[in-house]
Amino acid sequence: MLRKTEADQRPGQGDEDEGTPVSVKIRERLSAARKRFNANDNIAEFIEPGELEALLDEVEVKMKGVLESLVIDVDNDHNTDNTARRVAKMYLNEVFKGRYVAAPSLTEFPNAEHLNELMIVGPITVRSACSHHFCPIIGKLWIGVMPNEHTNVIGLSKYARLAEWVMGRPQIQEEAVVQLADLIQEKTRPDGLALVMEAEHFCMGWRGVKEMNSKMINSVMRGVFLKDPNLRREFLSLLPRKN
Ligand SMILES: [Zn+2]
Repeated sequence: MLRKTEADQRPGQGDEDEGTPVSVKIRERLSAARKRFNANDNIAEFIEPGELEALLDEVEVKMKGVLESLVIDVDNDHNTDNTARRVAKMYLNEVFKGRYVAAPSLTEFPNAEHLNELMIVGPITVRSACSHHFCPIIGKLWIGVMPNEHTNVIGLSKYARLAEWVMGRPQIQEEAVVQLADLIQEKTRPDGLALVMEAEHFCMGWRGVKEMNSKMINSVMRGVFLKDPNLRREFLSLLPRKN
């Protein structure tokens, strides 16, 4: 991490922030607050208005450096002319947006009907990337909810929004499902929560073992799904996974 030099602190130097990369400013705030900023953490509350645009410019410059180090003639190759900017935009505004924007707002309704039957949402398409290689992880997710009379009910599409927010970060599948389960648990407080995620990791197909058809399946069971094997069996038997 960069520390301010004496020159930076000399009075009469104008804006002492001038020249400090925006990523350094954001990192300093995170460190001051003792917040973790791993690849799959959301850091939206530490980014000030306008800084995301500055971050985009910074990533573009660094990305251009990567292309140059790959000995690609970015000045003359029309194909890679604007690639650094496109990749920077893709990371910050699309595929890793879940790190940089606040959680989607949810309208919660009281469970007026006192629903207490197993509810399953899915398949929700999951798009993420692995923290190890930044290669896509594409798959499906099913969410089982066992509500009680105090459970806040959220619209079905909101589960997909929450999943998109958590998965829109460089992830590790095992950690991603736990992060999503924690989030849904906190927002809706059901008696039980079950998640199953099945995904293809492109880093296994494109490189490494070059195995195209292997999938990783993870599940998280909470509350009554842990205690009641029949309920767990019912949930798993209702997943239309063979397709
Ligand atoms: Zn990987």
